[in-house]
Amino acid sequence: MTKPSSASALSASQIITVDGTAASGKGTLARRLAQELGFAYLDTGALYRLVALRMIQENHPASDEQAAAGFARDLARSFTLEDMENPAIRTDEVGQMTSKTSLYPSVRSEIIDLQRNYAKNPPPLPTGAPARGAILDGRDIGTVVCPGAPLKLFVTAKTEIRAERRHKELQSKGIPATYEAVLAEMRERDARDAGRETSPMKPAADAVILDTSQMTIQQVLETAMALVKSRTGFLATH
Ligand code: C5P
Repeated sequence: MTKPSSASALSASQIITVDGTAASGKGTLARRLAQELGFAYLDTGALYRLVALRMIQENHPASDEQAAAGFARDLARSFTLEDMENPAIRTDEVGQMTSKTSLYPSVRSEIIDLQRNYAKNPPPLPTGAPARGAILDGRDIGTVVCPGAPLKLFVTAKTEIRAERRHKELQSKGIPATYEAVLAEMRERDARDAGRETSPMKPAADAVILDTSQMTIQQVLETAMALVKSRTGFLATH
């Protein structure tokens, strides 16, 4: 990974967490917020997806916890930001495998330090400028990874609406899938993410819940920016 600058380790006050359900728009929101604020952005789902991709590539069934934990350990040691750009991690097959292998506490514990280190000591922005803070999106960032963050968002939308958005996205990419299949896959993944024992997907007690069912991306961004300004004084200087 791009080496973070150790001289200026950030306090928890410069961290925003964005958790939420699949295809809720949390990734788009987190990325846009990071651009607006000059923060570094980490898509933590991509980390779990990279582990799952290796499981598939090396023919391990999801039940092979030892293999998954080994791949997570490898990732924690040698992670680079370029890995996250691999389009192969974005398929539904990898998404399904990911929600199974991310159930394992042994996998999660390997990845947790990597996430905390990134949050406290983010790498410079693509422009080379130092990051003013960090935004992490995922399922358990506000509850487990960065519970001290001053602003925690939990983004969701009605399942049917999320499935419709995902279905349209797949169609626009020419990937064949029926709406019913996308909806069923989404329900299954949400249930697994919310029902697991270790780090289940849920809003932190102090998270602000954003239901994006009836909102455009711009409206979601404006709502989040208003929260940033009202809740985290240091950001208003941007
Ligand atoms: O956010 P994304 O859909 O890419 O996440 C893929 C899967 O990774 C989720 O369904 C979930 O099982 C897992 N995940 C997780 N904890 C996170 C981020 C993602 O368990 N912090």
